[in-house]
Amino acid sequence: MMRSAFERKPEPGKHLSPDPTPAGEQVSSGEIFRMSALRQKEWQRLANLPEETIQLIVQRLPVRIPRHLMRIPEPDRSAVLRQFLPHRNELDSDGLEDPLQEEKHRPAPLVIHRYRNRVLFLRTNLCAGYCRYCTRARIVGKPPHPTRRDVEESLAYIAAHPEINEVILSGGDPLVLSDQQLHSLLQQLRNIPHIRILRVATRIFLFLPHRVTNRLAELLAEYQPLYVVTQFNHPAEFLPDVDRAIACLVNRGIPILNQSVLLRGVNDDPQTMLNLVQKLIERRIRPYYLHQLDPVQGSLHFRVPVSRGKEIINHLRANIGGYAVPTYVFDDPNEPAKKLLYP
Ligand code: SF4
Repeated sequence: MMRSAFERKPEPGKHLSPDPTPAGEQVSSGEIFRMSALRQKEWQRLANLPEETIQLIVQRLPVRIPRHLMRIPEPDRSAVLRQFLPHRNELDSDGLEDPLQEEKHRPAPLVIHRYRNRVLFLRTNLCAGYCRYCTRARIVGKPPHPTRRDVEESLAYIAAHPEINEVILSGGDPLVLSDQQLHSLLQQLRNIPHIRILRVATRIFLFLPHRVTNRLAELLAEYQPLYVVTQFNHPAEFLPDVDRAIACLVNRGIPILNQSVLLRGVNDDPQTMLNLVQKLIERRIRPYYLHQLDPVQGSLHFRVPVSRGKEIINHLRANIGGYAVPTYVFDDPNEPAKKLLYP
């Protein structure tokens, strides 16, 4: 029997909303998606690694690097790209495959239920770019891709648990779904009477800013209260297209929160972090968390000592209003809430 379009393995980008086509061009959304990333030979040259090493690394986590990041002038470009370029240390065995023990808290195929009142809903495994330190490197960018049945079973779990009042769409990146898929999921969640708050966790502003259209903004605004949670890690990430995408949602009244990850060689510097939070608040994005890196296998070259994180927070406190200072936290799977590293 032929599988439904919903269940078929999606071709990356094929399920994107078709409307961001540049004016006057007849280019399919799949093609736009492909063109928006560096080709393998381009990133391979930047990574400067032997072919055999690359082959092993991409099995761990695919590589997809947004082409527009190459417009960032040096030395900031290298710092930003460090998040996405494969590194030989990814083959180290230190660290954990599932550092947050999410698989132990997976009562339905797409649901992670670690905290009593809220769940993660992993509707897609795909992202528009892949961060080398991703906590979910074990599943993102790889099959099996969610089926219609997975979605139904996961919605049924949420509907059967009235203690859940908040759902966080995550993944993967839920904004690689088409508008139609997104609308359908948000509507089904809103139809569950005890769901009060929706959150969408995405890096689409940075990875694929043209995905953020007026139509998407209208769609998300329909499901308020809905918060968008994103991840900017470096002040040079605010390219003009990125700013346009942010404004498109903020101007519709959709609140955006930012969760940075403290990363060696990217943002482990007090002045860089101050510039980042300044740029966030100018764009009306609230700096929400600064995360200590989860100890994901293959990402430990990004680790920064907690003492450095505290130094950064002290610098922020001394130079910017308290509302712009993110909470410095570590996600410990054995704790009932995120651990404050510097209260
Ligand atoms: S966008 Fe999020 S889910 Fe995707 S690779 Fe980056 S951290 Fe992981």
